[in-house]
Amino acid sequence: MATKSLIETVRVDVAVHSHNCQANQAHRVSKGDVRLKVRDGMGWAHYCKECALKIIDRDIAKLTALRNMNPD
Ligand SMILES: [Zn+2]
Repeated sequence: MATKSLIETVRVDVAVHSHNCQANQAHRVSKGDVRLKVRDGMGWAHYCKECALKIIDRDIAKLTALRNMNPD
């Protein structure tokens, strides 16, 4: 089956245990915080809300540019 979404590999969930953000070791994701989950090989990378918003905003900009369908 052909892929019909570019963002199949991303989810939002709630941290069951606290851990460091995988984009910045100084950021802490506390138990109960919402976090962004991104498929990373066989597992998932988890990002704090602050990093998640940056990643999502950057990708929205990328998708908006792609939508113009201008070949490189
Ligand atoms: Zn972070």
